[in-house]
Amino acid sequence: MGAEVTFHILGSSSGGNCALLTTPGCRVLIDIGFPARRLNDLLKPTGLRLAEVDAVFITHEHSDHTCGLASLARHPHVHVFANRETARVAQTRLRFRPQWNFFETGSTFSFRDLEITSFSVPHDASDPVGFVFSMGVAAERLRLAWCTDLGYVPELVRERIRGVDVLVLESNYDPDMLDRDHRRPWALKQRIKSRHGHLSNHAAHELLRTTENAAWRRVYLAHLSRECNDVQLVRDTFAALGKNGHRFAIEVVDPAAAGITCGLDAL
Ligand SMILES: [Zn+2]
Ligand SMILES: [Zn+2]
Repeated sequence: MGAEVTFHILGSSSGGNCALLTTPGCRVLIDIGFPARRLNDLLKPTGLRLAEVDAVFITHEHSDHTCGLASLARHPHVHVFANRETARVAQTRLRFRPQWNFFETGSTFSFRDLEITSFSVPHDASDPVGFVFSMGVAAERLRLAWCTDLGYVPELVRERIRGVDVLVLESNYDPDMLDRDHRRPWALKQRIKSRHGHLSNHAAHELLRTTENAAWRRVYLAHLSRECNDVQLVRDTFAALGKNGHRFAIEVVDPAAAGITCGLDAL
C-alpha cells in the first residue's frame, strides 16, 4: 500500500493549510491555503506541479484553506469538491468559476479510486467539514482523516475518525500562551477558545487519550498557531501518550517548516 499511496502535508498553520494525497488513480489536494507560487514551491519536493493535480477538497472557506483557489484559473481541469455553502462563499472572492463538484455534508462519495466521507465540524464558517479518505482494497485498505478547525470534538466526529489508520488532528493553541498574547484582541481570543473556534493542545490530547478502540497507527498534530503554541511544548504534552499502551506514533507538524512527507510504507 505504502508504495502506491503517498501523503505529504505541504503546510499546516493559521498561515496556510494544504496536503497532497496520491493514489494509483489520482492526485488530490486537501485544502489549498497557499498562493500559487508558494504552492508550487511546497509541491516541488513531491515532484508534482499544480497542473498535475486532479482535484481539491475544501474543508471550509477561510482563506488559510482556500486562498490558492485563485491559482486554479490557470488549471481549469482541476475538480473542486466542496459543499454548496462553502463553495458559495468561496466563489464570491474569485474572478472565475472553478469546476465545482458539490457534496452533501455527511455524505460519502467517490472520486476515481478514492472514497470520501465528509463530516460536519463545529467552527465559525458557513458549513465546515472534515474528511475521511479511503483507498485501496480489502486488507490493503488505508483510511486517512483530515480534522482541523473545530472548537470541540462532538461524538459524531470522534466516531468518524476512530477507525482511520492515519489521523491529522488540529492542536491549535496553548491556553496560557493565548492568554499572554498581546497581538490578538480580546474578542479574537474568545473566538479561538469558543466552541466554534479551534482545538487547544489539551482538547486534542483529551481526544487521543480517551478514544477507545481507535485504529490509529499514526497521528499528525497540525494547524498549530505560530504565536500561541510551541512545537516542543506540543511534543512534550503528547509524549506520554505513546507510553500508555497506545499503538500510534505521533508527529507534530511544525507551522514554520515547509512540508513533511508522511511515509506510509510502514503502515
Ligand atoms: Zn484554519
Ligand atoms: Zn478556519
